[in-house]
Amino acid sequence: MNRRAELAAGLAGVGERVTSACRAAGRERAEVTLVVVTKTFPAADVRLLADLGVRHVGENRDDEAAAKAAACADLALSWHFVGQLQTNKVRSVLGYAAVIHSVDRARLARALSRAASAAGRTVDVLVQVSLDPEGEAAGRGGVPAAGLPALADLVTERPGVRLAGLMAVAPARQDAAAAFARIAELAVALRTDHPEATMLSAGMSSDLEQAIACGATHVRVGSAILGRRPVAG
Ligand SMILES: *Cc1c(COP(=O)(O)O)cnc(C)c1O
Repeated sequence: MNRRAELAAGLAGVGERVTSACRAAGRERAEVTLVVVTKTFPAADVRLLADLGVRHVGENRDDEAAAKAAACADLALSWHFVGQLQTNKVRSVLGYAAVIHSVDRARLARALSRAASAAGRTVDVLVQVSLDPEGEAAGRGGVPAAGLPALADLVTERPGVRLAGLMAVAPARQDAAAAFARIAELAVALRTDHPEATMLSAGMSSDLEQAIACGATHVRVGSAILGRRPVAG
């Protein structure tokens, strides 16, 4: 099978999974946006995906993402930054990203605010919540749930950043359904103070059904569409 056919098959399979998960949850298909995570795969794959109708792509490392976004600048894609972000990369990421899913500390929120303001733009940000203290140690990032309200308030008060919602990665050694139920609770609580924070980014190749059942609006899917990554990313 050529690469285009492979990607088309991957997209069709994931599309069916999303559709049946929406049906099972009594949700409209249009409520869930597929973000195809292209990390470790070449710009040529992004180009094929765009041709197959993909509009939202996700990346987790700035150096790789910046080069790919530049190579695909003619495609009118929406780039989602989903990885851990160092403050010294903020300016670069703002050069291509429409949404940043991984804001997990005040220092990063302030840096984004300053850089976006200086660039004369406003960027949509999601606060990444850690549902597992050991997950943080493992480098997955995320603010502990107790720190969410203060970080959300900070984002709301600052120029250049717009609080769009929450993001979570299910902890590796826990039940994804329980983790997503918890993030859904936090999202509902957050919306009492911040009704504009409507996005919920949750669910990957292995657990998108559970995430959609819990109200995810954005699923971030890589390997189920593109195949196994050559290196862990
Ligand atoms: C790599 C990655 C994904 C996609 O993971 P798959 O298991 O390949 O679907 C989703 N979210 C984040 C934050 C990632 O780093």
